[in-house]
Amino acid sequence: MDNSFASLPSDFYTRLMPTPLPAPYLVATSASAAALLGLDQATLAEQASLDILAGNSVPDGAQPLSAVYSGHQFGVWAGQLGDGRAILLGNADTPSGPIELQLKGAGLTPYSRMGDGRAVLRSSIREFLCSEAMAALGIPTSRALAVAGSDQGVYRESVETSAVVLRMAPTFVRFGSFEHWFYRKQPEQLKILADYVIDRFYPQLRAEENAYAAFLREVTRRTAELVAQWQAVGFMHGVLNTDNMSILGETLDYGPFGFMEAFDRGHICNHSDQGGRYSYGNQPQIGHWNCYALGKALLPLIGEVKAAQDALDVYQSAFAAKADQLMRAKLGLATAQDDDRDLMEAMFTVMEDNHADFTQFFRRLGALRVDAVPDAAAMAEAGANHPDAPVRDLFLDRAAFDAWAQRYRARLRAENSVDADRKLAMDQVNPKYVLRNYLAQVAIEKAQNKDFTEIARLLTVLERPYDEQPEHEAYAALPPDWASHLEVSCSS
Ligand code: AMP
Ligand code: MG
Ligand code: MG
Repeated sequence: MDNSFASLPSDFYTRLMPTPLPAPYLVATSASAAALLGLDQATLAEQASLDILAGNSVPDGAQPLSAVYSGHQFGVWAGQLGDGRAILLGNADTPSGPIELQLKGAGLTPYSRMGDGRAVLRSSIREFLCSEAMAALGIPTSRALAVAGSDQGVYRESVETSAVVLRMAPTFVRFGSFEHWFYRKQPEQLKILADYVIDRFYPQLRAEENAYAAFLREVTRRTAELVAQWQAVGFMHGVLNTDNMSILGETLDYGPFGFMEAFDRGHICNHSDQGGRYSYGNQPQIGHWNCYALGKALLPLIGEVKAAQDALDVYQSAFAAKADQLMRAKLGLATAQDDDRDLMEAMFTVMEDNHADFTQFFRRLGALRVDAVPDAAAMAEAGANHPDAPVRDLFLDRAAFDAWAQRYRARLRAENSVDADRKLAMDQVNPKYVLRNYLAQVAIEKAQNKDFTEIARLLTVLERPYDEQPEHEAYAALPPDWASHLEVSCSS
């Protein structure tokens, strides 16, 4: 291991050691994340590994540090933030490129502000599971190797136990890392950071006339495509502040995230987000807003406003192209037609009116048969099952669903869609299993009683989100009544 970030000037970070976590125990490990490092789960279970995961020792070659950054929080300039509880150990060089290893919850840093530098077990398990679930869904994300826990108490609304997540990403540089030097009026430092990120992660852009404008364009494109992928699985990040935006276009900093259940364009997953700035429906425009903040910070390097504007203009078209492509695939449409947007809007409206579960709707829609056009009244009289029953039963207003389904069938017929082929294709893009809040909550409550088996079981389910897993059918179920009271909010 070495630490390439440590080669930057010393004002980019503070070197420090993690604060030891007393009497740590292993809570969870990810075999697929370990494989990226050429490790296996047995190795992670060894005492020497646990010591590293808990921050009680550091690997050979590590140069632990916390990075400084700033950012806009809820649309307001917040000034300096930084790794308040994260410590970068360094990077391992792997066949798929450099991977940085970072401990989250490893103790106080110079950037901790009012915080205690720790993370609670609950939020660490959520970050761990969601990182790995998103990767399995095929969505760019930081990864999570493991969670180490300790009985050491931390104070939130009540006393909870603490934990450390080991996260992995090629880099943890954020939009806010650039804003930091822009607002400090230190253009030399801004250039050093941009050159570092471009040379290491976007080297192909050096061939372009204005490499900094090309960099902004690339980050903008990746961000637009990332948000489109979130929308397509109903993922809501919850805290899309510029300091939580990865410069690589990966999902970063899991907090009060959620997956859409009863469909509502305005759904707010973060209990602290009173205005709904980061609601599901707002995510696309917030992604664009955040790119503007980055563009403003990069302007001294780009030189001309027009070049920055052109780079930022990529957002709308990149988002629309990706969203259309993903939504067509979700509906099993092989061709593009002019009124597809209309069909989709009508679908979202009827889903919203009926609080249809997002994940179950798309998964069940795959089983629709084009030519099974029923006479609903006759079927009811005969006591027969409606051929659309699985998906149709998600709608209280069956007639509204039937009206939309009629349109959808006509659209499928127009491209001679074949039921079996379409179902196969739809099952590969419409997950059966997502990390519903209640599933995480069940695993968390068991873990709080020192039973970590449910985390491992849930992880194995979420690692194959597109597969039918008959033995795990229950993990695809709608939330139980008790889960309607679950609330997740900012930093914990
Ligand atoms: P977040 O909203 O989780 O992205 O956090 C915003 C900022 O607060 C970041 O700079 C974090 O490092 C910092 N922060 C969050 N929780 C803590 C904590 N418990 N101790 C220290 N810093 C924290
Ligand atoms: Mg953050
Ligand atoms: Mg955070």
